[in-house]
Amino acid sequence: MRNFEYAQPATASEASRLLADSDDTLALSGGTAAVVLLHLGLLRPSLVVDLGGATEMQGIERPNGGMRVGALTTIRTLETSAAVAVAYPILAEAASQVGSVRVRNAATVGGAVAYGEPQTDVPAALIALGAEVEAQHGDSRRSLPLADFFHGPYETDLAHGEIVSAVSLPAPQARTGGCHAKFTIGSMEHKPVANASAVVTLDADGACLAARVVVGAVGPTPLVAERAASALLGAPIGEANAREAARVAAEDAEPIDDLRGSAWYKRRIVRVLVERAVRRAAERAAA
Ligand SMILES: Cc1cc2nc3c(=O)[nH]c(=O)nc-3n(C[C@H](O)[C@H](O)[C@H](O)COP(=O)(O)OP(=O)(O)OC[C@H]3O[C@@H](n4cnc5c(N)ncnc54)[C@H](O)[C@@H]3O)c2cc1C
Repeated sequence: MRNFEYAQPATASEASRLLADSDDTLALSGGTAAVVLLHLGLLRPSLVVDLGGATEMQGIERPNGGMRVGALTTIRTLETSAAVAVAYPILAEAASQVGSVRVRNAATVGGAVAYGEPQTDVPAALIALGAEVEAQHGDSRRSLPLADFFHGPYETDLAHGEIVSAVSLPAPQARTGGCHAKFTIGSMEHKPVANASAVVTLDADGACLAARVVVGAVGPTPLVAERAASALLGAPIGEANAREAARVAAEDAEPIDDLRGSAWYKRRIVRVLVERAVRRAAERAAA
C-alpha cells in the first residue's frame, strides 16, 4: 500500500474542494470497499479525504412527507430505523440483506451509491422507490434520478470532486407495497447472484395502478425493468401477470457468466425473484 496524506474536513463543501484539488484523491466513507482496494494497491491516491467529519451528511430527515437520507447514514441505520420501517419497509428489507452486521455497521448509503458496484442491494430498492441522488460540488448541489446515475460497473454520473451528499425519497403512496428479494450462493452474507426490487400501488379495486421493478447484479447497472412493470398495470396482480413480468424481466436482463453462475442460470434466478418480489409487494400493498 502506498503512503498517503489523510484529511477529515468538517463540511461536505470542504471535502469536495479537497477532492477536486488533484486527480489523485479518494473519498472515504465506511471504508468497506475503499480500504480493501487501498490494501490491495488497486487504489493509490496521494490524499484520502475521510467524509466522516462532515456531520451534516449524517441522519434522516422527513421533508414534505418524503425522506432525505444523509450520505453518511449507515446501512445498519436503514435496517433498524423505525421511520424507514414504517414509510419504506422495502428499504429496511434490502438493507437487512447487505453482507453481515459488521459490514452494515460501517457501510454507508453514500458509499453504496457512489461505488457503482453492480452486485448491490440498497440501490435497487432505492430506484424502485423512485429515489433521487444529491451530488455536491463545493457549495453547489444538483439532484438527479438514481435510475440515471449509474453509467456502468463502478462508473457513475459523479464529476471529479463531486460527492454524494444525500438520497431523497418521494412521500409514500397509499395502497403501496414493496419487496426486495435476493439470491446468493453460499452464505446470505455474500453479494447477490441476482436480486429484484418491486414496488406496486393498487387502486381501490385492487388493480395495479403503478409498478416499478428493478433487477440487480445481472447487468452493468441496476436495470429498471420497464416491460415487466407494464405487464402488471391495469389488473390485480396474480400468478399469470407476475409470471409474465418475471419472464420479460429475465429476457431484458444482461447477465454475464462469472464465478456466481452462468448467464443462463442467472436469468432463471431473475424469473424466480421477480415473480416472488412482485407477488409479495402486491400482498403487502393490499394488507
Ligand atoms: C464482505 C462484504 C460483503 C458485502 N455484501 C454486500 C451485499 O450483499 N449487498 C450490498 O449491497 N453490499 C454489500 N457489501 C457492501 C458494498 O460492497 C460496499 O462495500 C459498500 O456499499 C461501500 O460503502 P462504504 O460506505 O463502505 O464506502 P467506501 O468503501 O468508503 O467507498 C466506496 C467507494 O465509494 C466512494 N465514496 C464513498 N462515499 C462517497 C460519497 N459520499 N461520495 C462520493 N464517493 C464516495 C469511495 O471513494 C470509494 O470509491 C459488502 C461488503 C463487504 C466488505
